[in-house]
Amino acid sequence: MNLVCPLCNGLYDIDFKCVRCNSPMEERGPLVNIMDDYSPYLLDDISHRVDGVKEERCIHTYQCLNCGYEENYPIERKEL
Ligand SMILES: [Zn+2]
Ligand SMILES: [Zn+2]
Repeated sequence: MNLVCPLCNGLYDIDFKCVRCNSPMEERGPLVNIMDDYSPYLLDDISHRVDGVKEERCIHTYQCLNCGYEENYPIERKEL
């Protein structure tokens, strides 16, 4: 069984609407990449806390194109 994130692998897009203004949100990439730049130590800490869950979910950051509101969404990984 091989679980992959559809967004990271370009399988398909998932669209979310902004909770503030209902405008379309743009996908800004997986949260791990942002964290990696910021602090490897923090990333390690998070990995431990979400142990068991991180295999099934990939956290992606979305930003509203209209008001700039940012939200993180857990994306379920799919079997290839
Ligand atoms: Zn992903
Ligand atoms: Zn908005």
